[in-house]
Amino acid sequence: MKVVVDPDTCLGCGVCESIAPEIFELGEEVYATVILNPVPEQMRDIVDEAIAECPEEAISIVEDEDL
Ligand code: SF4
Repeated sequence: MKVVVDPDTCLGCGVCESIAPEIFELGEEVYATVILNPVPEQMRDIVDEAIAECPEEAISIVEDEDL
């Protein structure tokens, strides 16, 4: 699966990075970037947790068949 962060709605709060630092990174940007794409299917649970915890609902999954 591919994971995307909407830079227009992301607050840069860092919650996603603290949940899954192997997937999300704040770095120099004011919004999170996805550093692992595609994300392996076995990491879906942690992606789902990040989606649930993101206060801005800025994270979404794009299924492979949508690409
Ligand atoms: S949890 Fe959501 S709002 Fe916070 S940095 Fe991650 S994508 Fe942005």
